[in-house]
Amino acid sequence: MRPTTPLDRMAGAHDAAVLAVARRGDPVSRSALAQELQVTPQAISKILARLMERGLVEEAGTVTSGPGKPTTLYEIVSGSRRAIGLHLTRSRLHSVVVDLTGEILERRELEIGRLQPVPELVATLADEARALQDVGPGILLGVGVGMPGPVDGEEGVYRGTSDPDPWRGAPIRRLLAEELGMPVLLDHDSRAALVGEAWSQPGLLRNAALLLVEDGLGAALCLDDQIVRGAHSHAGEIGHTVVRMDGIPCPCGRRGCAQMEHRAALERGEDELAARILAEVVVNLVRLVDVDRVVLGGRTVHEQHEASMDAIREALTAGLSDEPWVHVEVMLSTRGTDLIAVGAACEVLEHEYGLPQVLVGPE
Ligand SMILES: [Zn+2]
Repeated sequence: MRPTTPLDRMAGAHDAAVLAVARRGDPVSRSALAQELQVTPQAISKILARLMERGLVEEAGTVTSGPGKPTTLYEIVSGSRRAIGLHLTRSRLHSVVVDLTGEILERRELEIGRLQPVPELVATLADEARALQDVGPGILLGVGVGMPGPVDGEEGVYRGTSDPDPWRGAPIRRLLAEELGMPVLLDHDSRAALVGEAWSQPGLLRNAALLLVEDGLGAALCLDDQIVRGAHSHAGEIGHTVVRMDGIPCPCGRRGCAQMEHRAALERGEDELAARILAEVVVNLVRLVDVDRVVLGGRTVHEQHEASMDAIREALTAGLSDEPWVHVEVMLSTRGTDLIAVGAACEVLEHEYGLPQVLVGPE
């Protein structure tokens, strides 16, 4: 990926803001963009010129309203760029290629029967990426990989757990980039999921938590329009908050972690208890970081989301009863089981805009 300078970053923020509006699909005028993003029409002209030069935006006809010159409209060129997203778990690889609007052009699923050693794993990831690299028009920007943590997104390294873990410490980003000869980005699955969700609904998730329920339980946070990483790239590891004293031992060294108790409840067929654990985790999270939207996503919760969402809504109503002015909306991911793969691809697209962490959008 190209390095970004402060000036790049400022330009990138403006470009990303205009593209976020254009991503909604309807052609938009210069004055409408200026009004929505609260910048001058002259500034919008410069941004549009820059985006058109890069082929990301094009003119889309004119409209006439009242006397004077007709107004030119602009739209995003969805086929101008593509990115591949890979969602890696211990047993499965889910792959997509998306266009500049985040629309899926093609998807693939691969069951991985066993935990492959790192060189074999990198070859598998590369094979899946190669199978998608010629799908769709436009420039292929790179490959995003989303996987369960602990992952250091800055370093592109899977940190691993204390369990015997053949992937522990693997510099997956570097190895895969060398293998494919193209840019690669590695991130925690929940953060990739939040980017994917925010991408689908520009401007909606300014203060939001995405609760991801896959094999583990984690969350990603967007606070004041910034996706939060934290000092060790671990922000949002809600699965390791204790929900039962002296409960089930967790690989992290503690007992009664939400992740372990939730999984055990599901395995015992106690779905109601599992939903209650999720609900308490969400109320704790809302109390701690003050978000107004909670998005529920992930393969495990996707099938039976109604019970979980009802339990969360109920717990929020009870848990926030002393603060009637606080309203938290609970939503289901709009991306289904594609969420993490799509999000990893969207992270690559965002990088092209120059400002990877910011999801600037309209009011
Ligand atoms: Zn734990």
